[in-house]
Amino acid sequence: SKITIAIDGFSSTGKSTVAKQLAKELGYIYVDTGAMYRTVALYALQNNFAKQGEVDAEKLIENLDKVNIDFKYNAQLGFSEVYLNGVNVETEIRGMEVSSYVSKVASISAVRQKLVALQQEMGKAKGIVMDGRDIGTVVFPNAELKLFMTASAETRAQRRFDELQAKGNTEVSYKEVFNNVLERDTLDTTRADSPLEMAKDAVEIDNSNLSRKEQFDKILLLVNA
Ligand code: C5P
Repeated sequence: SKITIAIDGFSSTGKSTVAKQLAKELGYIYVDTGAMYRTVALYALQNNFAKQGEVDAEKLIENLDKVNIDFKYNAQLGFSEVYLNGVNVETEIRGMEVSSYVSKVASISAVRQKLVALQQEMGKAKGIVMDGRDIGTVVFPNAELKLFMTASAETRAQRRFDELQAKGNTEVSYKEVFNNVLERDTLDTTRADSPLEMAKDAVEIDNSNLSRKEQFDKILLLVNA
């Protein structure tokens, strides 16, 4: 029978790649919760609640009801894309500007409450792979399978850098990406509300030295166990 798979871990550990692959293999629904936090950060930017490195939490909370997030499946791409108030923002949310504010936005409790509730609603459909930072600990503490992905900061920054380059985002340097990865690690692990931590019953996958195939085979064994 179909299960719930929670995938957590640090930035750029390849969570979403694995999650998409798993969803495809198993015929499950994939939900990218980072995209949801990124979408709220984009909303804050668009409305000037995020500027000069600061987020105006009060203003953002006041307007949180106006942030409608949904996912629509794109058959051509083979995965779902995120929409903010009806507008496809899938590309925009991946840029450095959103990346530099998202962890601050994600530290706001009211934001987390709203998104966790949405995620739990989506999880009512069985056969789901969800990736994020608090899926195994907060969103689905009873998930049948929990994975916690890790890799060195250098490996992760290089991956994100290559990804940005491949998408034509060439004005950003490796150093900037590396610093952003470190900054998000710190913010994500030290915030007061649901800090990033490994669930006690999660399986840790360190993929610094694993090929995608090796990693996927290892995970499939866990799913079928
Ligand atoms: O997964 P991704 O790197 O796109 O997530 C962006 C940011 O959103 C993370 O650095 C983290 O601050 C926040 N996040 C979170 N909880 C989640 C998913 C993402 O706090 N479940």
